[in-house]
Amino acid sequence: MSAPTLRLILGDQLSLANPVLANADVKRDWILLAEVAEEASYVPHNRHKIVLIFSAMRHFAATLREQGFTVIYRSFDEGVSSLYAAVEEGLKQSGADAVLATAPGEHRLLVDMQSWESKLGVPVLLQEDDRFLASRDYFESWASGRKQFRMEYFYREMRRQYGVLLDEDGEPEGGKWNYDADNRGGWRAQTTVPDRPSIAADDITQEVIALVEESFADNPGDLSQFRLAVTREDAQAQFDWFCAHALDNFGNYQDALAEESPWMFHGLISMYLNIGLLEPLAVCQQVERAWRDGRCSLAAAEGFIRQILGWREYVRGIYWHAMPEYAQRNTFEARHPLPPWFWTGDTDMRCLSQALKQSLELGYAHHIQRLMVIGNFALLAGLDVTEVCEWYLAVYVDAFEWVELPNTLGMALHGDHGLMASKPYAASGKYIQRQGNHCKACRYDPKQTTGDKACPYNSLYWHFINRHQDYLTKNARMGLIVGGWKKRDASDRKAIVDWGDRILATALD
Ligand SMILES: Cc1cc2nc3c(=O)[nH]c(=O)nc-3n(C[C@H](O)[C@H](O)[C@H](O)COP(=O)(O)OP(=O)(O)OC[C@H]3O[C@@H](n4cnc5c(N)ncnc54)[C@H](O)[C@@H]3O)c2cc1C
Ligand code: SF4
Repeated sequence: MSAPTLRLILGDQLSLANPVLANADVKRDWILLAEVAEEASYVPHNRHKIVLIFSAMRHFAATLREQGFTVIYRSFDEGVSSLYAAVEEGLKQSGADAVLATAPGEHRLLVDMQSWESKLGVPVLLQEDDRFLASRDYFESWASGRKQFRMEYFYREMRRQYGVLLDEDGEPEGGKWNYDADNRGGWRAQTTVPDRPSIAADDITQEVIALVEESFADNPGDLSQFRLAVTREDAQAQFDWFCAHALDNFGNYQDALAEESPWMFHGLISMYLNIGLLEPLAVCQQVERAWRDGRCSLAAAEGFIRQILGWREYVRGIYWHAMPEYAQRNTFEARHPLPPWFWTGDTDMRCLSQALKQSLELGYAHHIQRLMVIGNFALLAGLDVTEVCEWYLAVYVDAFEWVELPNTLGMALHGDHGLMASKPYAASGKYIQRQGNHCKACRYDPKQTTGDKACPYNSLYWHFINRHQDYLTKNARMGLIVGGWKKRDASDRKAIVDWGDRILATALD
């Protein structure tokens, strides 16, 4: 029998559809999974994320063993320092003469893995991760020759390519590609947010929770509230629950902010998609079926599918298209250090405090909290782009650089000169008031711009417009706002900018 191949599976590649398993010889080949210190600690990852990944890896290893594979599993307490070290030892243990892996989702790790072959002296083959719906080549051919990238056009091509929500003539169902205008409702407690079923932590998860409590004592994350699925079956059950109980309202309240619920009608599936417990096309098809069976509106189904078939694939395309230079971009030269209260949530700004606290405690915030509450504040206050991106990478259970970086640096902070989004997502307190019910519980008033009761988002918004007016004037969608600002009485403008200065000098400590 020829020498075995060592097949490496990373913590975010936990799927039987992982290309590394295709053509694997169950009797001959060895599988390697390793919980390594380097990957678990290059940012202070939320403890929910570490438990999710380690427990899901352990469950996946058990599935592979049940299928007859020989699995080398290196657990965190064995103290393996790096993936490279794990592979080096795995080669010795297995006698393998080659390493096969699926390309990782982070540029940093890809560069590292590309150096292994010469160091190890055996072939190291990296395969494309075909669990994504747009390959890197596909995105590059879509992007080539375009002066501007816009998600909407990419998304339409993806709908056509995968035949999702199309009628018999291949045209969009309902006659429109995009029902975003129906997805912007604000929250005034119009209906009840259904309780999410929790999943009982089994023995494996309990053991990992104990390990993480001890080894990552200073990281964010309240593990008494751990409620994530760690197997494919449980992740699917969670998604089935969403389709039955929340999907129909997802469309209406996709952009809403609620005091009473951290997750409202959102899917809570990004972490499962990102580590391989759910597959993106299957998820979109299940939602399409729900609409065809009359269980949700077209706007809800389209809105949800757009996030996955559109945004998720698009941000990954942007990441690989523009890395590694992308990570250094900083359109507005934003360099103010991250305030320490980003790590506690202790601020009087109610909307921000709630979004930060739930992010730290649960590792979850929905899109509008990430974009229009936390990201918007960071943009308006000119917080350091690299520090903000590292914070996002650390706190969310679904954070992997391929998806976190374009969303944070590009969409939230407009740090990439508009490659991701056509205009900065800058907004005053009025937007946050319109979208939800936080302001009622806040000590600030969203209608005031200066003075002790004034909502800080208001003066900071105009401060941002004022200090970047040269850049913003050139933006077709912001030019009018800058024009309006310039027409305002000079003494009004000065009072607002002075108040903004004061907020920046006091609120960021
Ligand atoms: C500043 C910022 C940082 C973000 N960081 C991450 C991250 O680290 N990891 C991550 O998976 N998502 C990230 N997102 C995208 C989005 O906010 C999350 O995917 C979503 O909140 C996850 O919750 P959900 O599963 O309940 O999503 P839902 O609202 O139910 O949406 C369904 C699915 O669509 C996908 N999706 C939606 N929007 C996006 C998007 N903009 N980019 C990629 N996929 C999207 C996700 O897979 C999500 O599960 C970020 C967004 C912003 C604005
Ligand atoms: S008043 Fe301002 S800070 Fe307070 S909740 Fe509303 S938007 Fe947020």
